[in-house]
Amino acid sequence: MYRDRGASGSKPEIGTLDRKRINDALDKHLEKSSPSTSRGLNGREKERLSVPSTSVGKQLDHHRNQRSAPLSNEESETESEESDVSGSDGEDTSWISWFCNLRGNEFFCEVDDEYIQDDFNLCGLSGQVPYYDYALDLILDVESSHGDMFTEEQNELVESAAEMLYGLIHVRYILTSKGMAAMLEKYKNYGFGRCPRVYCCGQPCLPVGQSDIPRSSTVKIYCPKCEDIYYPRSKYQGNVDGAYFGTTFPHLFLMTYAHLKPQKPSQRYVPRVFGFKIHKP
Ligand SMILES: [Zn+2]
Repeated sequence: MYRDRGASGSKPEIGTLDRKRINDALDKHLEKSSPSTSRGLNGREKERLSVPSTSVGKQLDHHRNQRSAPLSNEESETESEESDVSGSDGEDTSWISWFCNLRGNEFFCEVDDEYIQDDFNLCGLSGQVPYYDYALDLILDVESSHGDMFTEEQNELVESAAEMLYGLIHVRYILTSKGMAAMLEKYKNYGFGRCPRVYCCGQPCLPVGQSDIPRSSTVKIYCPKCEDIYYPRSKYQGNVDGAYFGTTFPHLFLMTYAHLKPQKPSQRYVPRVFGFKIHKP
């Protein structure tokens, strides 16, 4: 069932405090850089701060653990980052599939490397994401020569930035035919959950954002039957940024795969008191 999907990623997490700290650090950085960079991130500080962090914590912790396996002692983070990449020969998990398999990230599909490597597809993102080049290298598992120059905090920022960059690439990718096909596979497997409305009879849903501006609101699920939106059932999924799915996706999806558009629900719930319909004045 839907609820159990969340449990599959038994990844260690760092504490809420750490996650908050990382998120605050990213926020601070974005605030500092926003006047010269992203229009979208400007003037939304208040709303941004109210949006919970996504999976930054999980990402950091697990990524490091996984990749620094050969290191047994407490070496500095920068060193381990470096060795991680160089010692990744036997590593068959790409950053992308690792990220998509984190708990809470089940709604994301894996974006093709080819799509990310085409600069045209990333147009405009460099101004929106801090540490853009490093974040991109991380996503593509490209060895970065700058890892040892960064402080731990900077490395955390790069990890957060990578998550944001992936999200902003993802929202574009799922509107392409390849991306939509990947989302179709998930939809067929009820990967986005079902409508909680009784008369929608378990209709599978699609992810949707209420805004295309990052950090404005969390992801919701859209029911094609009752044409309404709901909170995802998993709290982990509920923390994911809605802008990584966007306002357009489910609707373009249902236009593309028109045969999947269900009939409108035939039944409506009628409130009754002692069996009588309630009189509406
Ligand atoms: Zn519904």
